[in-house]
Amino acid sequence: MSAELQSAHSEATSVDALDVARCWHPFAQMQEYTSHPRVQIASGEGCWLTDVEGKRYLDANASIWTNVHGHQDADLNNAIIEQLGKMAHSTYLGLGHEPGALLADKLCELTGLDRVFYSDNGSNAVEIALKLSFQYFQLVGQPQRKRVIGLYNAYHGDTFGTMSVGDSGIFHERFDPWKFPVERIPAPTCEEFGGEVFASDMAESLAALDAHLANFGNEVAAVILEPWVQGAGGMLLQPKGYLAEVQKRCRAHGVHLILDEVFVGFGRLGPMLVGESEGVTPDFYCLAKGLTAGYLPLAATVTSEEIYEAFLGEYGEFKAFFHGHTFTGNPLGCVVALKNIEKLEAMMTSGALAETIANFEQFFRDLREALPDTFVLRQRGLASSLDLPAGDRTLRRGMHFCIALREQGVLLRALGDSILIVPPLVISADELNFLKAALLETLQDKAYL
Ligand SMILES: *Cc1c(COP(=O)(O)O)cnc(C)c1O
Repeated sequence: MSAELQSAHSEATSVDALDVARCWHPFAQMQEYTSHPRVQIASGEGCWLTDVEGKRYLDANASIWTNVHGHQDADLNNAIIEQLGKMAHSTYLGLGHEPGALLADKLCELTGLDRVFYSDNGSNAVEIALKLSFQYFQLVGQPQRKRVIGLYNAYHGDTFGTMSVGDSGIFHERFDPWKFPVERIPAPTCEEFGGEVFASDMAESLAALDAHLANFGNEVAAVILEPWVQGAGGMLLQPKGYLAEVQKRCRAHGVHLILDEVFVGFGRLGPMLVGESEGVTPDFYCLAKGLTAGYLPLAATVTSEEIYEAFLGEYGEFKAFFHGHTFTGNPLGCVVALKNIEKLEAMMTSGALAETIANFEQFFRDLREALPDTFVLRQRGLASSLDLPAGDRTLRRGMHFCIALREQGVLLRALGDSILIVPPLVISADELNFLKAALLETLQDKAYL
């Protein structure tokens, strides 16, 4: 072994040993994690990640659905480096700064709303929208509006408020005693991939919403939903047009509409924002994941001037929103978000994003031709799922499939038996071909059929 290889190898062993001995990973059965092959990432470039031993992998889930322009993008790096030369962080509690002001202005332009409240992750962005909605109704003399309506299979985060409005079954069930009650309606359904819609239904969902609003509409503070795609629910698609129907009903009953665009925003499905593309202006947008192109933890809750004004008054009236996080409005996050949005707008204007999405649609049409009908496909924009044929979920076929796929140089993460494919927004046609060959090669193994 060359000296160079040997030192890379011993570095790899020591990182892995510390990982196994000291770290506790999110959403992981650690007994399983520590007993299966692991990957320790050392660097990234474009859509690729390299591990500590020098093996390259296509980052086909965009580092859990966040990456937009690839890793080590020179423009994004430079934006952060330039800001680092001024300051890494200064508190937003009682002080302001230029990156925060400029990004807030840009987010208002994109959303058609007026006020931005920063935080540092998607769960907090949702938590803040819920608290603002509840407090708003107390402040305007409608304290009876306490209820929330959410969708089945919703995922809004892992804090108590977001677990309450979400519906993640066994993941969160054990915390039921500490959750607040939420009314649920079925999500609308849509079968779609490759740019074609095969079936869709929103009637059942809207009927359920109508029934709830007729029964206790004046007790409802907010309807919350993930528009177009419920990502963590398994890439469950919704028909276009549903959102406008929901907004109409919310307006008629004086109920807030909270759009959790943490996953779907910032070009993931094509448009900058799904709500805006549907002509819908919610009372709250919750933004995170793609906001900083997958670079830094920053989130935003965007709302209207009307809601903001209800919180104004003398200090002693205690109408202020008593909520904040230490790293609220981090300037490094703000500058990278601004640069991300500027680059995204250019990709949308030039047609580059539309072309990538068209390539991805072709990728799914090709998969459909290559795979038996027992595989179910769902895809819109750059969000998708390839479901393995129905089988015993306790066999963990999805996880084993993703581990096997690493041999082909591809990183993906499964949700049960659903293989979720969510690439960076700059994935090239060649990279998609590489991914397709790797998937089909790995699926040759009968265990997945
Ligand atoms: C990821 C996600 C969240 C939670 O965001 P975190 O940053 O992981 O807290 C909330 N809503 C949706 C739709 C998400 O996809």
